Amino acid sequence: MINFQYARADSVAEAVRLKAATPGAKFLAGGTNLVDLMKMDVERPVALIDVSRLPLDRVEETPAGGLRVGALVRNTDLAYHPVVERRYPVLSRALLAGASQQLRNMASVGGNLLQRTRCAYFYDVATPCNKREPGSGCSALAGLNRMNAILGTSDDCIAVHPSDMCVALAVLEAKILATGPRGDRIIAFADFHRLPGDRPQQDNTLEADELVTGIELPLGGFEKHYTYLKIRDRLSYAFALVSVAVGLELEGGRIGQARFALGGVAHKPWRDAGAEAALSGQPATEASFAEAAALALRDAKGFGHNNFKIGLAHRAIIRALSQAARGTPQSQSDKKIA
Ligand SMILES: Cc1cc2nc3c(=O)[nH]c(=O)nc-3n(C[C@H](O)[C@H](O)[C@H](O)COP(=O)(O)OP(=O)(O)OC[C@H]3O[C@@H](n4cnc5c(N)ncnc54)[C@H](O)[C@@H]3O)c2cc1C
Ligand code: SF4
Repeated sequence: MINFQYARADSVAEAVRLKAATPGAKFLAGGTNLVDLMKMDVERPVALIDVSRLPLDRVEETPAGGLRVGALVRNTDLAYHPVVERRYPVLSRALLAGASQQLRNMASVGGNLLQRTRCAYFYDVATPCNKREPGSGCSALAGLNRMNAILGTSDDCIAVHPSDMCVALAVLEAKILATGPRGDRIIAFADFHRLPGDRPQQDNTLEADELVTGIELPLGGFEKHYTYLKIRDRLSYAFALVSVAVGLELEGGRIGQARFALGGVAHKPWRDAGAEAALSGQPATEASFAEAAALALRDAKGFGHNNFKIGLAHRAIIRALSQAARGTPQSQSDKKIA
């Protein structure tokens, strides 16, 4: 038994103060990831600062026509929120593709953003892992890496970010709202999660003393042409092998704006500006989508057991873009676009 302290914060200011005063403490929200990691001896916080009762559980419209979502909004509540279902359906679909109903009832927006990789070696404290123990080595490079990354990897880590929600947030270009001893901060979604480089222990750009207070979704949620396609070993309760979130604007059969992000392939939700730009002005056909898929995966590299992900991601991108163009998200059929 490893002892730790526990304190419940009653206000955001108190949470920030407690964290700054206790190096090695961690915030506790739904606990669905952090408590598992503590039980497995992967995380050893000296103290838990329980933020689960902070008044950050609201979903509010912003004056600019977007949506502000508190960090403590549960994944289930967000997925079934009527405005999210109507105006940001790709986010609703991505949330419902994650975990199980019971877990979604507990999991918070903040915890989902900050959940840690599911790389098997990260969880196995008997094996070297640079993310868990910097400088110890990466067991996945030459090990069982079927679930690991094919894009943006480094010699130090090939882990993937496991969230479904975050893949949709990448397409929606959400903003992360954070606060800490130095005041409030807004972080663009693309700048929040990191690639591993030579510091894989650092998953994101949040400072150790900062609390995520919420996210902001801008106006424009691709409500007509979107999809969240998740390919996994089981139809539920499994992390993505590859997932694709898409948002398209179509103008008379041609693509206006195109955004797509991949999950399950990199240390962060993966977007490729060149592949998206290549779709702009093109007809919404399989040929255009195949070209974009090839561009997005031009630097993909497998590590043995996960080589299959490159072809899988290629097919998944084409299928997801086709679904979104047809306006039939997550359709089982793959009819040609008229
Ligand atoms: C069996 C299983 C299957 C799963 N399958 C999926 C899946 O398919 N897809 C998917 O996306 N997810 C999946 N998950 C992960 C799940 O979505 C996460 O565990 C959950 O979102 C974490 O939220 P939480 O509120 O419980 O976070 P916690 O466990 O409380 O915290 C997670 C981390 O976030 C930090 N944190 C929490 N809130 C804040 C905040 N406001 N500011 C700063 N730091 C904060 C904590 O300190 C901790 O480091 C699965 C989990 C399990 C156990
Ligand atoms: S891929 Fe990353 S998380 Fe997995 S063993 Fe290597 S360093 Fe650890």
